[in-house]
Amino acid sequence: MREVPGAGHPGLTAAPRRLQLHFFDAAASDSVFVEQATCDFCDQTLATCAPISGLALSSPARAPIGGAQFGCLRCFEAGRFFVDNPLESFFTTPPQLSAADRARLQATPPFRAWQGAQWLCCCAAPMTFIGVWDHADFELHGHPKPAAAYFAEIGVNAGEFDYDREWSPRRSAHAEATFYAFRCGTCGRHLGYADCP
Ligand SMILES: [Zn+2]
Ligand SMILES: [Zn+2]
Repeated sequence: MREVPGAGHPGLTAAPRRLQLHFFDAAASDSVFVEQATCDFCDQTLATCAPISGLALSSPARAPIGGAQFGCLRCFEAGRFFVDNPLESFFTTPPQLSAADRARLQATPPFRAWQGAQWLCCCAAPMTFIGVWDHADFELHGHPKPAAAYFAEIGVNAGEFDYDREWSPRRSAHAEATFYAFRCGTCGRHLGYADCP
């Protein structure tokens, strides 16, 4: 399992819990919900939380935001608070968003990325983030194509990275790039992009 941004930070939980939203369908640990803390909305201890201080929050639904330090994943999914995902977070020029997509995207927590999460678009809509990929994922989804060929095909900035150095089983001990994968909710294709510290 390759290192992802923020891994190794004390207090991180490795829970394999999935966060399933319209634009986010991946391990919750790929999102900003990675702290084990007491939720200030439901008081559950050792909950999988996002630090409120690091988030732009909008429209608290049921509980006052003032003074809250952590919000848990369950309270987030229950709509007790919103994580504000800035709409300028697109890798390329975004399409005209429908009102429904705009609202959904604003309520989608960013995934953890070295240089900040950026959404890819396909079929005139934002794609769904489906996780951080390593070699096994490229092999699985690209089969029967070689993993490196599939990376070159779906990586929108693949030309800036050396697959063998960063992702292959023979990768460098200094490999540090991370690949963020997306699926189009309309045509089903995969795309992704890579970044590094
Ligand atoms: Zn809670
Ligand atoms: Zn598409």
